Amino acid sequence: MTTKMGQLYEGKAKRVYATDDEGRYIVEYKDDATAFNGAKRGTIAGKGVINNQMSNALFKLLESKGVRTHFLEQLSDRETLVRAVKIVPLEIIIRNVAAGSFSKRYGVEEGQELKCPTLEYSLKNDALNDPLINDSHILALGIATEKELDAIRTMAYKVNDVLKEFFAGIGVKLIDFKIEAGRLPDGEIILADEISPDTCRFWDAKTNEKLDKDRFRRDLGGVEEAYHEIFSRINQ
Ligand code: UDP
Repeated sequence: MTTKMGQLYEGKAKRVYATDDEGRYIVEYKDDATAFNGAKRGTIAGKGVINNQMSNALFKLLESKGVRTHFLEQLSDRETLVRAVKIVPLEIIIRNVAAGSFSKRYGVEEGQELKCPTLEYSLKNDALNDPLINDSHILALGIATEKELDAIRTMAYKVNDVLKEFFAGIGVKLIDFKIEAGRLPDGEIILADEISPDTCRFWDAKTNEKLDKDRFRRDLGGVEEAYHEIFSRINQ
């Protein structure tokens, strides 16, 4: 049994705790929701319970396909034991279909299929509003090495391949998503953070109905229902 110790960090949607094993953390998922870099705040009832279980199910799937993740064991509805990593301060974003900030930036209609998946990075820095950053900036600033960027790139595309196929099988289009990479003490890069409707865009394959956090961001209503719908499809 691993014992929960002091809180190390509180983010917008999760808290991270130390344990009596320095190689393990406990992550606790909250119902708090924020958007637009914290400018919009609210709660989505039951979100933490869904995101915890959904992220764990997807991490298990990814592990079975050869992607190393921080997931170790679900401890409760909201808590999961994970490998302790140092997070690389990048939002790693893959897109299959134009939406959100990509659509705005390039004047492309939401829903336009991209000819190939795209990969982009934002620097995780709230004070700077998470600016876009490219490979050469990342290297020049020492945020990651060339070898680490290679590992991140390979991991990101692999996650996309696995998740796109999985979601297609349950009638869901994976529009885009954000992942985070963590460094183990030996330097290995693994998948960390979460994969959930907070961090992905999911559209119903038939109707294009949004089944993700855009319902909260854009005041579309049916927020809780969307989280439940996507979760129930994963468990079907
Ligand atoms: N995303 C995220 N956290 C962020 C920014 C984006 O999880 O801080 C996810 C978002 O849910 C979407 C993808 O990354 O699935 C691409 O988001 P985009 O850049 O379009 O940003 P947004 O339109 O959400 O500002």
